[in-house]
Amino acid sequence: MTFAERPVSAPLFEDLPGDISVSFEFFPPKTEKMEEQLWDAITQLAPLDPSFVSVTYGAGGSTRERTHSTVSRLVRETQLVPAAHLTCVGASKDEIAEIADQYWEAGVRHIVALRGDPPPSSGGVFTPHPQGYAGAADLVAGLKARHDFDISVAAYPEVHPEAASADADLDNLKRKLDAGANRAITQFFFSTDAYFRFLDKVLAAGISAPILPGIMPVTSFAAIRRMSGNTEIPGWLEIMFEGLDERPGPRALVAAVAAADLCRRLYEGGVRDLHFYTLNRAEQAYAICQLLGLRPKPGA
Ligand SMILES: Cc1cc2nc3c(=O)[nH]c(=O)nc-3n(C[C@H](O)[C@H](O)[C@H](O)COP(=O)(O)OP(=O)(O)OC[C@H]3O[C@@H](n4cnc5c(N)ncnc54)[C@H](O)[C@@H]3O)c2cc1C
Repeated sequence: MTFAERPVSAPLFEDLPGDISVSFEFFPPKTEKMEEQLWDAITQLAPLDPSFVSVTYGAGGSTRERTHSTVSRLVRETQLVPAAHLTCVGASKDEIAEIADQYWEAGVRHIVALRGDPPPSSGGVFTPHPQGYAGAADLVAGLKARHDFDISVAAYPEVHPEAASADADLDNLKRKLDAGANRAITQFFFSTDAYFRFLDKVLAAGISAPILPGIMPVTSFAAIRRMSGNTEIPGWLEIMFEGLDERPGPRALVAAVAAADLCRRLYEGGVRDLHFYTLNRAEQAYAICQLLGLRPKPGA
């Protein structure tokens, strides 16, 4: 039975066995209060036994120390597998090698390798550091030559805004995987069709690596618009959030429902690995996992 053929009387989240694997993304905290919030989120989500938890890297390497200290604390104080995001922007290959060595020595084995966005002063054009990497594919090759990292890279179901074409963007994804990356995590999206169409193209291109959908519960529509790039924001989603700008409580609940519905449809299409952009909050990701049948693992 396909999803569309399900009887209307069937509860949407009925009897899901929880046969999914999840990963969670966090950002490094700026203040003590944010640090507390982050660790509260990590503590709440850890029992769901994520396959890894990743920590982002601020634009242009602006969070280098904070990302490192968050990831190192994850290694020291938890059983979780941490993944450190790392970008090429504004860094020479030697600087990146030094960062990679520090991670390896700290026991970090998973890197999310990215090019990074060009700084606002650049007019939106990425120019590699004179002694740096030209893009994420080169970075993957450089990291892999240095240490045998497990590497994730970015993928764009609705095409990266700077790509010459969808095919060129797919070629670039293939280059990143051929250079040694093990999986890709997608930019957030709201159209399951966009994701599944992209998967078809990925498979047709001979790519067999996992392409984890990046799930972003909408916490702020303004922020989603700012970050969306080519990601289509469907009209029905806008209507769903109408009038909620000043109502954070209902907005968070609606966002969880919308994201859970997206995940449910991905699940129906065979997806079993999901990556959550948590924005350092546990409630929505936890609630969605709960609806999908996932339960805390004893001892995790
Ligand atoms: C899961 C995920 C996590 C992220 N985490 C962070 C983070 O922590 N910190 C941060 O600053 N940013 C982060 N980003 C954003 C990312 O840095 C930007 O989207 C950036 O603009 C592109 O990075 P990339 O690794 O995809 O670049 P690349 O894969 O290098 O691609 C960049 C662009 O160049 C094009 N391109 C690449 N090679 C060629 C070539 N040889 N010829 C022609 N065109 C080419 C590609 O098609 C694409 O348009 C993240 C994005 C995702 C999806």
